[in-house]
Amino acid sequence: MFWKKKNSEQIKSINAAIEFIYLIASAQSVFIALLKITNGYDPKKNILQKILTYLYYDMLAGSLIGVETQLHIDAISLCRDTCLRRLEQSGYEQFRTYHADRKGDFAQLEESSKEFHVFLEQHPIFARAALKVVRELVADIGAISPGDDIGHLHTQLYDLVTSEELKNTLEIEQGISSQKSEASIKREAKQSTVVGPWDKVDDSSVSDQKEKRSFLLEQTIGQQIKNVSAYAKKINQTENLRFQVIAHYYCSYLTAAFLQINDPELIQVKSRAYVSKLTGMSPITFETFETYINANPVFAHTASDFIAKRVNHIFADSFTGNEIPNHFTEIVKELLYLNSDNLSISCQYCGNEWKFEDVNVRSETTLYCMDDYLTNEETGLQVNACLCFRCRRVTEFAADPLNESGLAENGIEYFRTKPLTLQLLFDFHQNAQKHGNEVAKAKMDKLVQNQA
Ligand SMILES: [Zn+2]
Repeated sequence: MFWKKKNSEQIKSINAAIEFIYLIASAQSVFIALLKITNGYDPKKNILQKILTYLYYDMLAGSLIGVETQLHIDAISLCRDTCLRRLEQSGYEQFRTYHADRKGDFAQLEESSKEFHVFLEQHPIFARAALKVVRELVADIGAISPGDDIGHLHTQLYDLVTSEELKNTLEIEQGISSQKSEASIKREAKQSTVVGPWDKVDDSSVSDQKEKRSFLLEQTIGQQIKNVSAYAKKINQTENLRFQVIAHYYCSYLTAAFLQINDPELIQVKSRAYVSKLTGMSPITFETFETYINANPVFAHTASDFIAKRVNHIFADSFTGNEIPNHFTEIVKELLYLNSDNLSISCQYCGNEWKFEDVNVRSETTLYCMDDYLTNEETGLQVNACLCFRCRRVTEFAADPLNESGLAENGIEYFRTKPLTLQLLFDFHQNAQKHGNEVAKAKMDKLVQNQA
């Protein structure tokens, strides 16, 4: 009925798009039917395949038909449902709203499947990943001109619904959301009841959860091995130690987050196994790790902070799951050549400048940096202070080797300078005392004597 009253040009172009989609869909359903024996496609058992098939035809129709008017939208539903019906007739159950079957009363029907939308709403990470993949596929089809070879489109739906990447994304998300709900159940239980040691707890579901979480962790590591080992081949011996330190941090944070353990020793033991799996190398000892981070405090601080943020990001809403195969290598790229060892710090009043790494410990330096000066309560930024023995002024700064602030100069962001007060001198002295830094204490004592 809606075909008749609209302008014919519009209908002509919609019809052409629909015909083209039917052509593709029919080839695709033949391809899938041929694969019947291999059992690769079974949307009745596999909700993921059902969702992706619906999404694919819906977006394909949307992109080729257009969405300008209600006529377009009805045409999308009709076209999508016809494609889905074709598959249903071959025995592959689908979501649809039966526009195609009941043209007469289509106005009373929903434009799209409720189950489909509910599923996507419940799995936002998967939804974003799937939308992205399908959008790219249909954009390619949109770019095809008449006369182009479309043979490659025949396998497109099958390749999409059997994509390992989307399957993994969904599994990881389902795992994360069960962790989230488990955590909130625990919180509620804690608040509402007092559980005594005499309460017997059936922990079979707890052990199921644990198994699931370590499975997800394995998946997260497993999906990266190929890229990580390819990357590891390119780095030289000197960089290798830092690479291992980064891997150590990374696997520790992953282990803690996925397995929800806080015991540092347990994390260490478990994460070593993941390091060797991820990198394909035997992991460095904990002693080597500690020696390295002690010798490179700025790097250690930056790397730890940065990696913790990236790992937490896995559990955030904006994470799509597509990032996983390159998750660790992206971190390595940021941190491996981090220029933290050659940073220099300068007094912003008189320009007195020293290498940051050894500024506090060498006897000839005329600056001292305090690492517990203050934390900005609004931003959580740790602000340090640098005392200049030459001009007796104090400069506030923060180490920012990645220039995350966009304001850093040679890895340091400076705030302001102010004259040295007795209170400040006392604070610097306390800090040197805390670190057992006799060299610095002597310099500060001298400053007091000179002032007297
Ligand atoms: Zn100065």
